[in-house]
Amino acid sequence: MKSLLATLVSLVSLNAWSEPVEFQAGAASYDITPPIGTPLGGTGGFPRRYRYLVDWFGQHPYANFFTPSQGVHDPLHSKALILKNSKSSIVFISLDLVGVTSELYEKLNADLKKSGEFDEVIISATHTHSGSGALSTSWLWEILAMDQFNQTIYDEFIRGVKKSIELARERLEPAILESGSFDVEEIHHNRRDRPGHMDNRANLLLAKTPDGKRTIGGIVNYAIHGMAMGGNGFLFSADVSGGIERHLEALLSGTSGGLKPTMLFVNGAEGDVTTSFGGTEGIEKSGKIFASKASGILSVMKRIQPEWKVRKLAVKMPKARLNLGVCGTQIGKKPLNLNLYIGSKAAPRIATIWQIQLGDIKIMTFPGEPTTDIGEAARALATANGDRDVWIFGLTNGHLAYLVTPEEYKQGGIEGCSALHGPQAATVLLRAHDSLLKSKQ
Ligand SMILES: [Zn+2]
Repeated sequence: MKSLLATLVSLVSLNAWSEPVEFQAGAASYDITPPIGTPLGGTGGFPRRYRYLVDWFGQHPYANFFTPSQGVHDPLHSKALILKNSKSSIVFISLDLVGVTSELYEKLNADLKKSGEFDEVIISATHTHSGSGALSTSWLWEILAMDQFNQTIYDEFIRGVKKSIELARERLEPAILESGSFDVEEIHHNRRDRPGHMDNRANLLLAKTPDGKRTIGGIVNYAIHGMAMGGNGFLFSADVSGGIERHLEALLSGTSGGLKPTMLFVNGAEGDVTTSFGGTEGIEKSGKIFASKASGILSVMKRIQPEWKVRKLAVKMPKARLNLGVCGTQIGKKPLNLNLYIGSKAAPRIATIWQIQLGDIKIMTFPGEPTTDIGEAARALATANGDRDVWIFGLTNGHLAYLVTPEEYKQGGIEGCSALHGPQAATVLLRAHDSLLKSKQ
């Protein structure tokens, strides 16, 4: 009986480890840099605003309120990683873009699901502030950060995203999955006067060939604002997230016989965390430091089961508004507590959070920019629920701008002022995450 049991146990474990043979992964990247002259998307400060307010005489084919871009520092990409096992398929997409609005997510999700090929679509923005503008139909984002919507630029952008997925699909091959985490402190810092308060943990997911020798592609998850190029320039750039991807891809090519894998950068709880090194050199320096830290864990990456379960929950958010006091307007010496409400057409009130159990990793998504405190709160909820390896995906599958604690809201600044759905928005999303964690479905 004992030996029968032992045989059964070994059969079960053999079956568990033979699973990867059925598992396939494919990754690819496609250049989505728009034509020169397209406005940059990311910030709406005066250096980027058109000096004559609008393009009165239609001189610029793609720009209206913003100054047209003048060139490319480094190209923008759409990157796709497809994971497919015998039960389901999931595609992760990372876009060199400031945010993925829910309208953009819904459009791509609907198009990609039409073929029945993907069960789940997860789209993240790297949060570069030097990406393409002219891509949002919400008047709020048009005015604040993206310039007027342009159908031609949008159509070409969507085509580019789909192309990256097509290429990843063509490259599907048998694979295994590995994960690992390490700390990188030097390249980012808290920008809200809380020195040392940031999530230093970097997470790495790698899809490799079954012999473990070549990396097909993967995900790198880390909290940092893409602001090395600043928010005032006129050159397209994938910013620091692009630098991190590039240096990681070079590192992994070295162990893959020179074949370049595709790494997707997915931001973390970066709402109050920015890059420490500026400019072109800053991008390279950050990438180099990041890759050298990553090289330390490559030999001890952990094999994970190529199985996933995806759950999501849609919640109704508080009304979007700008609070004049939080945004710095004072009467006498007191902040003016006056809300200017924004209609739900420009700032949709339904937000969705996702939880992806991938092997023993729990991925928790936020449709916007959670601060370090919000990321920590989410991780604490999952840890209390028994999860040991929790990854926070910010700027994923929707964009509600900043997600802050009620205290951070009160303190104002750019993060408080741009927490569009008010002081309770992040709490609503955390509660939704908690109920998903606790639900047994
Ligand atoms: Zn931001």
